Amino acid sequence: MFNIHLASVYGFCRGVQVACSLAQKMIDENPDKNLYSIGKLVHNDKVVSSFASQGLNVINRPEDGQPGIALIRAHGITRELRAEFEQKGYTLIDGTCRIVFANQMRCSEEKKPVLYFGIRNHAETVATVSYLNVPYHVIENEEDLNQIDPSLSYDCVIQTTFSSEKLARFKKILSDRGVDVKYTNNICMASTRRRQAVSVLSRQCDTVFVIGEPQSANTTALYNLALSCGVKAFMIDGPESISDEMLDAHDIGICAGASVSPKQVSEVISFLESRGGILLPSSGGNSAS
Ligand code: SF4
Repeated sequence: MFNIHLASVYGFCRGVQVACSLAQKMIDENPDKNLYSIGKLVHNDKVVSSFASQGLNVINRPEDGQPGIALIRAHGITRELRAEFEQKGYTLIDGTCRIVFANQMRCSEEKKPVLYFGIRNHAETVATVSYLNVPYHVIENEEDLNQIDPSLSYDCVIQTTFSSEKLARFKKILSDRGVDVKYTNNICMASTRRRQAVSVLSRQCDTVFVIGEPQSANTTALYNLALSCGVKAFMIDGPESISDEMLDAHDIGICAGASVSPKQVSEVISFLESRGGILLPSSGGNSAS
């Protein structure tokens, strides 16, 4: 017998939840049309397959499909790609997360050179910097700071899921070098809240199950955090990934990355209950925050 503790925040963030609701609405309202998402809707193959089984297929470029309705995922797409889809006759449904969209609009209005703090090849970065009409540097690693001309002054845009610890380190280096940067902090709290919840779980439990897939950066970050807290941590897709040895625990914590659906979390809880686990009444909080 073991106790089950559910993280205070877990699963779909608001942006992913909105994109998935738009996808379901597209499917329900357009049974006879070609339906697509531009890129994987979420970094979660179970969710992507479930939409594919209802007729929503993933394409990356207009020539990959036939004109129809195409959903822009929460990370957004470049303005060039948006124009190409429109020119080829697709109707676009915009699922760009409102926080990412705000960054795109800021970029389009920038007048000064920009430092963009983010992961260079991440879809959100590629999409967001496409809205800039001024020179910019993408700052992912400490070495990238060497490209910066200290005689110029910069505005900054930050990838919504960028690590706040890393940002603080970079700010200190730039300040020590006397670089003039006007900072705004637009890091989304969704990832931060999930990390805080995992820290709490790791103090309460000897084992933590992180639901999600390695292709999801935020799920991997939660898994690494749990490991670094000294508990036994397992990244699982669902009940099928759970072995008997993994249940040799007194207190099992459950958390889930921002691309994991409530259904996947419920399935894991039901499975653990069927194996003798007791969900503590105080467990669980908000998903989608
Ligand atoms: S993590 Fe934040 S910024 Fe990214 S999609 Fe989710 S809510 Fe939007």
